[in-house]
Amino acid sequence: MTHATLPLTDALRQYLLAHSLREPPILQALRAETTKLSAHAMQISPEQGQFMQLLIQLLGAHKALELGVYTGYSALSVALALPETGRLIACDINTETTAIAQRFWQQAGVAHKVTLRLAPALETLNALLTAGEAGSFDFVFIDADKQNYVSYYEKSLSLLRQGGLMMIDNVLWQGRVADENVQDPDTQAIRDLNQRVVADARVRISLLPLGDGVTLAQKC
Ligand code: SAM
Ligand code: CA
Repeated sequence: MTHATLPLTDALRQYLLAHSLREPPILQALRAETTKLSAHAMQISPEQGQFMQLLIQLLGAHKALELGVYTGYSALSVALALPETGRLIACDINTETTAIAQRFWQQAGVAHKVTLRLAPALETLNALLTAGEAGSFDFVFIDADKQNYVSYYEKSLSLLRQGGLMMIDNVLWQGRVADENVQDPDTQAIRDLNQRVVADARVRISLLPLGDGVTLAQKC
């Protein structure tokens, strides 16, 4: 067997970016602004944002949901890829970081596609289900607090249409999921999620070693 996944050195990542990244100036500007914040490592990478855009376009997605907005990079990537009539419901609880997100959505001319729901994501998911929106979403990105990942997965699966796609971030958690010496609640929650997903016949899956590990789960 050849190397299952090529180790990505700094030089090779630079090559990858030079030969694939097409980051528009507005996303570059948001990344530069976010770099000033101490928690900037929470932002997804530009190549992951571009991959999400490709998925949105492959799916022909109109209706998307995001759990965990931060300064809005992943949401802006998705909103830019959605059609004019597309809609993204973006969930977070932080007014300061989402104010940056909203400023950039305005600047990019996509604010009309995005509805920010400032509440714990579980509340928003429950409200969407109660409002009869089960089976209506084309795409869900899960990237909020890790200890609710299993609940986010179950509720998001209900909200997805058949053939719709869920993308779950940080599923390799800097490698901690595979280290038995690590037993903190966040790591355990991600292990629980990964265990549930691999055994779940309701979805077709792939776990990609992209960024901090990304699971794609398509509703059968
Ligand atoms: N997707 C973002 C990006 O690409 O820049 C990064 C999201 S960051 C890793 C996680 C976000 O989840 C934070 O902005 C945090 O405020 C939010 N969050 C934490 N707990 C939450 C909850 N219970 N409900 C909704 N959002 C939550
Ligand atoms: Ca993340």
